Amino acid sequence: MIEKVLIANRGEIALRIQRACRELGIKTVAVHSDADRDLKHVLLADESVCIGPAPSRDSYLHIPSIISAAEVTDTVAIHPGYGFLSENADFAERVERSGFVFIGPKPETIRLMGDKVSAISAMKAAGVPCVPGSDGPLNDDPNHLLELAREIGYPVIIKAAGGGGGRGMRVVHSDAALLNAVSLTKAEAGAAFGNDTVYMEKYLENPRHVEFQMLADNHGHAIHLGERDCSMQRRHQKVVEEAPAPGITEEQRQRIGERCAEACVRIGYRGLGTFEFLYQDGEFYFIEMNTRVQVEHPVTEMVTGIDIVKAQILVASGEPLSLKQEDIVLRGHAIECRINAEHPETFMPSPGRIEDFHAPGGPGIRMDTHIYSGYMVPPYYDSMIGKLIAHGEDRACAIARMSNALRETVIEGIQTNIPLHRQIVQDAAFQAGGTNIHYLEKKLGL
Ligand code: ADP
Repeated sequence: MIEKVLIANRGEIALRIQRACRELGIKTVAVHSDADRDLKHVLLADESVCIGPAPSRDSYLHIPSIISAAEVTDTVAIHPGYGFLSENADFAERVERSGFVFIGPKPETIRLMGDKVSAISAMKAAGVPCVPGSDGPLNDDPNHLLELAREIGYPVIIKAAGGGGGRGMRVVHSDAALLNAVSLTKAEAGAAFGNDTVYMEKYLENPRHVEFQMLADNHGHAIHLGERDCSMQRRHQKVVEEAPAPGITEEQRQRIGERCAEACVRIGYRGLGTFEFLYQDGEFYFIEMNTRVQVEHPVTEMVTGIDIVKAQILVASGEPLSLKQEDIVLRGHAIECRINAEHPETFMPSPGRIEDFHAPGGPGIRMDTHIYSGYMVPPYYDSMIGKLIAHGEDRACAIARMSNALRETVIEGIQTNIPLHRQIVQDAAFQAGGTNIHYLEKKLGL
C-alpha cells in the first residue's frame, strides 16, 4: 500500500485527492506556489513544500521542483490531478524513473493517447466507432487531399494530432478552401504544439458530447462506469455536466462501454480514463481519450456510489479491481455546475478576496471547493473555484435540487458565473435534455 502521496496540483482537485488519501489512511504532501500558501489543502496537509513562484511554468509545471519535493518528503506516489502535468508522458516517465509511483497510466500509454492520430488508430483497431476520416496523417499531395475530402464529404474538419484545449482545428466547407486550411492548420500546429501532423475528419454539425468513464487495473481488468453528457459548453469548455446522458439507452451504454473496456485491456490501460465521443443521430464517434481524472468525475460518483479517486489510488498501489461490470448500477441522476470566478456575462476572470461564502446544502447536494471566507482567488490560474453537484432520484429532481442550491449559494467579493447557471437550469431546452454542443453559445448569442 502507498503510505504517502504528493499532490502535484492545486485548488479543488488537490483537496479532493487529499480527502481520498485521508480515507485510505495515506499521508499527503501538498506542493504549492508562492501565491498558494493559503490554499485549503495546503493548510490541511501533513507536509507542504513551496515549489516556486506564482507562474505555473515556474511551479506546477516545473518538473525538477516537483521531483525534489517528492525526494525531500519521502513520498511514495505522485497524483497529478487534471490539467498541469497530468497528461505529460515525460513527467510520468521522470516520476517512475525517480522511483515513485505515478498515479495514472504508463508513460507509453499517455504518449499513445496524447497523439490523436495514434489514439484513433488504436481505437479503430479495438473496434471503437470513430469519425469517418483520413485514418492517419495528411500528406502534401493536393490531389490526394481533395479526393479524400470529397470521399469523406464536406464539411470536413482539419485537426492537429497534438492539439488540445479546443485549439488547432479548422472546418472546411468546399474544395476552394481546403488546401489553404490544411497548410494554415499545419503551420499553427507546428508553432503551438511542436508537432505539425494534421488529420481530416467528417465535421459533425450538431453533435452532443458524451463520454464514458473507465476504470482499469494492472491485472488485465477494465470496467466502465457509464457515461456523462457534457454538451453544455462555451468555447469548447464544459460548463454543465450530467450523468447519465439523457436518452442514452441501457443497450447503447453497455454496447459502447464494453467496447471501451475491451480497448482498455487491449492497450494495457491502467487507472482512470475517459473516452470522449461525439453523439449524433443515434451514433457514437470517438474523438479522443483523456488519461486522467476529469473535472466532472463527481456526477459519475453520485450515480454509481463509487469513490473514483479512491479507486484510482487503489489501482495505482497494485490492487486488482474489486468491482465487476455487473456490480455497476446507476441510481438516479446527477448534474454538475462548474463555478468560475468570472463575470457572468463578459466571462472576464474575476480574481480577488472572497468576503463571504455560504455553501448550499440539503439532500443530494455536494459542493467540491477549496474556497472559504477570506480566501484570496489568485489571478494566475484557471478561474474555476469549485463545482456544485446535485443528485436526485431522477433528472427533474436533480434539476430542482440544483436550482435550490444555486439560490442558496452566496459568494461575495468576487464575480461568479452562478447567475449563468441559474439561467441554464431554468432553460426549457436544458430541462427537456439532450441539447447539442452549440446550444449554449447560441442561447447566449455568441
Ligand atoms: P481538444 O483535445 O482540443 O479538446 P477534441 O478532439 O476533443 O479536441 O475536440 C474538441 C471539440 O471540437 C469537440 O468537443 C467538438 O466540439 C469539436 N470537434 C472536434 N472534432 C469534431 C468533428 N469531427 N465534428 C464536429 N465537431 C468536432
